[in-house]
Order: sequence, then structure tokens, then C-alpha cells
Amino acid sequence: MIWIAWYLRELVFPSTCASCGAEGGEIICPRCLREMPGLPRPACPLCASPTLYPVEACRRCRRRRPGFDRAVALGLYQGSLRDMVLELKYRNGRRLAPLLGAMLAAEAGRELGGEEAEAVTFVPMHRARERKRGYNQAGLLAREVSRHLGLPLLAPLVRTRDTPPQAGLSHRERLANLKGCFAVKEGAEVPGSLLLVDDVLTTGATLSGCASSLKRAGAERVVVLVAARDLPSAPAAPPAGERRVPGRRGPDGRGKAWG
Ligand SMILES: [Zn+2]
Ligand SMILES: [Zn+2]
Repeated sequence: MIWIAWYLRELVFPSTCASCGAEGGEIICPRCLREMPGLPRPACPLCASPTLYPVEACRRCRRRRPGFDRAVALGLYQGSLRDMVLELKYRNGRRLAPLLGAMLAAEAGRELGGEEAEAVTFVPMHRARERKRGYNQAGLLAREVSRHLGLPLLAPLVRTRDTPPQAGLSHRERLANLKGCFAVKEGAEVPGSLLLVDDVLTTGATLSGCASSLKRAGAERVVVLVAARDLPSAPAAPPAGERRVPGRRGPDGRGKAWG
């Protein structure tokens, strides 16, 4: 009887673009898809925040190394991508997850090349919150990614306590807020190399906490895959003190910042 509910819903609320609201039966209209803000390059390979020139690690990551080893994002948390993530998170995750998940799998394939991961996993939601929302958007995305990449989907992580929303907190406050809140389930399988999926990466505190728990349980490499990269308010990579990739020079050959 699910299809009847779906059909009735489509009659009452015909599919509209998640960003501009245009009617036409598409989840995201071609114009909004075209205008989706990509990730500016170069970017820090660890946390995917844009940098002025190619670096091994941005200043923020050098100061506090994230628990994960690399981050891949579809684009910046702005414009139509932000609208899609909000729709995924708060309104209709099941409708958007297949598209965003497919895009994320394709981006991971491009960015990671031959790098092999053994499985896909995701940031868990506290049980009470997931029950209320009806789904975990990170889990929905991870399922699509695992399907497209042909990798098993694992769920070794649990959120041991519900945390207040992270928005508006500083990185330090977020870390304190999340301390000890992720754990690996007793007896759960944790392979050596994992893709860890979430919807948005902001300060990285959540993903870092999850990655550290996975590593304590035996993972050696954790690559983060997120739909969007939100930039924390403080600049991630001021020009002074940046470590350049050796041998990489600016377009004028004098080692000046790129773009
Ligand atoms: Zn649109
Ligand atoms: Zn970084």
C-alpha cells in the first residue's frame, strides 16, 4: 500500500525542485544542478577547506590533526547544494538520498582514484532522534554510496548519548560537547580502511570523533565523504605560515599563491 500513499502525496504535493521550488517533477532542476557550488581548488586534502595554494595540511589541520585521513566533498555548503542538504536532512531524505549518494560516489571515484576502501559507514544519530526523524540522512547517503561503489555497508558506530545541536558552538566547544559520545559496538566488524559518510563537514569535530573511535577499534585509514563543506567562520588557511607542497609553484614559477 506504500505506492498508494506515494501516489496521493504526489497528487497533493507534486515534486518540486529542492532548491528553487520549480515544478516539473525533478528533485533538483537542471538550472540549480548547474549552479551547484563546487569545491574551490586548491583545498586542504585533510579537511577539504579551500587554501590559497596546494598544501599538505591547512593551518587548522596542522594545529589539530583530524581523526580522519582525508575528506572529499561535493561542494561548498551554499546555494543549491545547501538547499539539497537541508531537504535531505529535515524534509525528505529518502527523496534526495539516491541523487546525492550517486554524486558522492562519483566524486569519491574521481578524487580517490585507485585508493581502495574496504567498506562504507556513516555518522550515527542518537536512537531517539532517529526515531523522531524517521531516518538518518548520513545512513541513507552511505547506503547509496556503498551500492554505487560495490562496497559493504557497515554500521559499527553508536552514539552513546544525545548531544545538543552543534550549530553555533566553537570548535573547542564542539569537541567538549562530543567527548566520548561515539563508540564502536561490542563485537562489530571494523576493517582497516573505511569511507565515513556524513551530510555536512563544518569544524570536523563530529567526523573526527567517529574516525578516532573507528581507529581505536582497528581501522587504519578513514576517508570522510560529505555532501557539503561548510566553512567555519575563522579563516582555515591564512596566507602566512602555510606549508607548501614541495616542488609545487604558482603559475609564475615563483612560488606565489595560486589563484
Ligand atoms: Zn531549481
Ligand atoms: Zn585542513
